[in-house]
Amino acid sequence: MKALQYDVIVVGGGLVGASLALALDRAGKRVALLEGRPPRLEGLDQGWDARIYAVSPANRRFLESLDAWPGAERLGAIEAMDVRGDAGGRIQFAASDAGEPALAWIAENRWLLAALWRRLAASGVDCLPGLKPQALSADALGAALTLDDGRRLSAALLVGADGANSWVREQAGLDASVKPYGQSGVVANFDCERPHGGVARQWFTGDSILAWLPMAGNRISMVWSTSDPARLLELPPEQLAETVAAAGGQALGELAVITPAAAFPLRLIQPERVAAERVVLVGDAAHTVHPLAGQGVNLGFQDAAQLAALLAGERDAGDWMLLRRYERQRREAVKTMQLGCDGLFQLFQAKAPGLPWLRNTGLNLTNCLKPLKRQFARQAIGY
Ligand SMILES: Cc1cc2nc3c(=O)[nH]c(=O)nc-3n(C[C@H](O)[C@H](O)[C@H](O)COP(=O)(O)OP(=O)(O)OC[C@H]3O[C@@H](n4cnc5c(N)ncnc54)[C@H](O)[C@@H]3O)c2cc1C
Repeated sequence: MKALQYDVIVVGGGLVGASLALALDRAGKRVALLEGRPPRLEGLDQGWDARIYAVSPANRRFLESLDAWPGAERLGAIEAMDVRGDAGGRIQFAASDAGEPALAWIAENRWLLAALWRRLAASGVDCLPGLKPQALSADALGAALTLDDGRRLSAALLVGADGANSWVREQAGLDASVKPYGQSGVVANFDCERPHGGVARQWFTGDSILAWLPMAGNRISMVWSTSDPARLLELPPEQLAETVAAAGGQALGELAVITPAAAFPLRLIQPERVAAERVVLVGDAAHTVHPLAGQGVNLGFQDAAQLAALLAGERDAGDWMLLRRYERQRREAVKTMQLGCDGLFQLFQAKAPGLPWLRNTGLNLTNCLKPLKRQFARQAIGY
């Protein structure tokens, strides 16, 4: 059977792969998108998704440029942050410190995915849902995939957007160091008694990190990074709500569970390289970070936006110099985020004498320094 020929094959149609496929289609590339588990597009308004993202304003603009930004009815906005340490430290900053309406926009995973996949259905991208690759080969001339239904695809470039356990990364021999944090992120959504006021709240408790993110209406989404997820997952809904409300000092009064709790293992994944001959990685396939700054998907959207911009107008999408340029371009942003999140995680885990005082005093001092707070706000926004 003759291979189907594309400019780019994207493996993985999660948020990052789907947005990249759309952006490349807009840039006039012939694109195939393989997704093992395509998202459901119907019944989105039934219930709430426990998996939510804090999408930066820069990435909102990227998704809007693809006409794939979900409708306002289910969006929350983080207008301010209130972060507390484990011994009285506190820092607060607001989007207005940087002259913006929001530090980030809170959107549910399935609404974002549905917005992207609806656009894909109306685009020139060849979507191959439900199919998985069986074999990958690449040489100086191009990359080829054999699918589980026997079909063969070939392209100038193959992109691995297949998540943290990337099959493409392994097949391309792009070794990655994987460091488990020994924690899981437990997520659940709640109705709250008192208005959240658009404030994202975070508590570093020493052995866990609890975050409450403001959703549409008077709801919050929790991400609790903890080494004992079973303790939370086993609780009946009322007790889970009481435990979470108490851990946040009843800052929003009583809570009521609206989605059952789920947990995800937390790992730091750092491949040495994200480009090989005719193959490149994006999103969680290329990096993961601790969710304490909520930046995982933001890094991934920027991978997609910058890769698409680099390839636009280029005749050979898999040209080695282009792939090297992409790798260099992304390295600094990814390393900075990984180091920042990892450093903060280690700082608040450390038990050495004097450290709790030091880290909490650091937070309080920073809270008094307006220019530094402005800088925090600008970084959160993604300047
Ligand atoms: C607890 C927790 C909370 C988080 N909170 C945030 C947050 O607030 N903000 C934020 O920005 N990020 C957050 N993240 C990170 C975020 O979930 C990821 O960064 C993001 O989902 C990565 O998107 P992706 O498209 O790269 O990968 P994925 O979402 O993993 O998508 C990969 C896709 O590839 C498909 N696939 C895999 N293998 C194959 C194959 N062989 N063939 C075909 N298809 C395949 C899968 O079905 C999937 O659809 C959080 C993560 C965790 C664990």
